[in-house]
Amino acid sequence: MNIVFENTYARLPSRFYVRQAPVAVTAPGLVKLNHSLAVELGLEPDLLSSPSGLAVLAGNSVPDGAEPLAMAYAGHQFGGFVPQLGDGRAILLGEVLDPRGERFDIQLKGSGQTPFSRAGDGRAWLGPVLREYIVSESMHGLGIPTTRSLAAVSTGEPVYRESELPGAVLTRVARSHVRIGTFEYFFAREDAEALRHLADYVIDRHYPESRLDENPCLALLRSVIARQAHLVAQWLGVGFIHGVMNTDNMSIAGETIDYGPCAFMDTYHPGTVYSSIDRNGRYAFGNQPPIAQWNLSRLAQSLLPLIDEDPDRAVDKAQAAIDDFPGIFEQARLDCFRAKLGLGKAHSGDAELVDALLRTMADASADFTNTFRALCDAAEGLNDGFCTELGNSAAASDWLGRWRERIDHEAIQPADRATQMRRVNPVVIPRNHRVAAALDTAVSGDLDPFEELLQILASPWGERPHSSVYRLPPEPHEVVHQTFCGT
Ligand code: AMP
Ligand code: MG
Repeated sequence: MNIVFENTYARLPSRFYVRQAPVAVTAPGLVKLNHSLAVELGLEPDLLSSPSGLAVLAGNSVPDGAEPLAMAYAGHQFGGFVPQLGDGRAILLGEVLDPRGERFDIQLKGSGQTPFSRAGDGRAWLGPVLREYIVSESMHGLGIPTTRSLAAVSTGEPVYRESELPGAVLTRVARSHVRIGTFEYFFAREDAEALRHLADYVIDRHYPESRLDENPCLALLRSVIARQAHLVAQWLGVGFIHGVMNTDNMSIAGETIDYGPCAFMDTYHPGTVYSSIDRNGRYAFGNQPPIAQWNLSRLAQSLLPLIDEDPDRAVDKAQAAIDDFPGIFEQARLDCFRAKLGLGKAHSGDAELVDALLRTMADASADFTNTFRALCDAAEGLNDGFCTELGNSAAASDWLGRWRERIDHEAIQPADRATQMRRVNPVVIPRNHRVAAALDTAVSGDLDPFEELLQILASPWGERPHSSVYRLPPEPHEVVHQTFCGT
């Protein structure tokens, strides 16, 4: 297998990870290879799908240049600190440079036990592996920063959860797997030297411009805050609920990572929760911005020793950076929703106009995706679809009147506005019932619906005749009420 690895994480001090090879499986089978991603990474799809490639993707063979390791990290899970988590079922094979010189981690997930596995078996099963595949690739199709999925491989071995299930391994590609929890791990151990190594590493790898600042670690914090704020704003723009925004699931590079019980909303309501383990709605749709800020405060705390040698000054500086989050987030959210509403320049009443629409949608239990898509038609004077989505309420036509008044201030042809809006309001999202149906069939051996759904989601902006069924919200009997971690 000819993958050119160029590893940097493995050069960090040995307490950052445990060297550990993936555990071999009995009978690897290629379920899905992401050809276009392979090509983007400069890898050869034919080689990856050959028997020797399959052996690598299954963890049965460690290619030359790979330095397999399990990363150490901690994390706040549902608000409670766990000083040691770490890769309990994942192995970082190494890093590759794509043809543009961009660096990516190649990680196997579900690749067997590591010293961080605690009571877990280190494995994953096919359902959640394909779920992560489909949702992460859809996120990419929507233009939102995310880890990606290079391959899904079946292991030929059973995994025992509530029942016996088919085992699988996902190959995940990420700008890096450093998390807020990686910083927390060393902060909890009062290991200032490791924190400095980690901060230097992250600055070099993700935020080199911070180096130029008079306080590079404070600049790093500010940059991560800005990226997370933009990421969460983009999630809100497509109705995405991450579901487990624990600090170990928050990427320092600002990518969406760890697709567990995540979901895209059908009916809009800010209180929406799907995750079976989120009993108090900590990670509800509308709670994601304050939770992101809370998570970033954990990062800020971990960086304190690097921000200023005087503890009080360090707190003041870090707190000022954290206090900027709401403003940065709100700006990003407004930019996102302004585009969704077809508004060009910023206007003082825009936030109220956006929020009035969202309130009207919540009151009408309107479908999030289809309402915004129908608004694109309204930009060309076709109001019916939009009004129908909102239950033909008086509030809907009032709002439409306000919106029309607002857009009339901007000289742009209706058709051009509609075209611009259609570039930011997707036709299709991975609706839970569609994903669930595709996964059920895939697990029983028929991958066609999975492939079709993937293809549809790869270009979510266009109207296509065959995508019509994928636009439909679930019928009452199809509604998925709960999603699961799948661990
Ligand atoms: P997650 O819920 O996937 O973010 O994982 C939280 C922690 O549990 C991480 O340290 C994982 O490595 C670990 N973990 C999750 N599932 C398993 C498993 N099946 N075996 C071992 N460790 C696991
Ligand atoms: Mg995780």
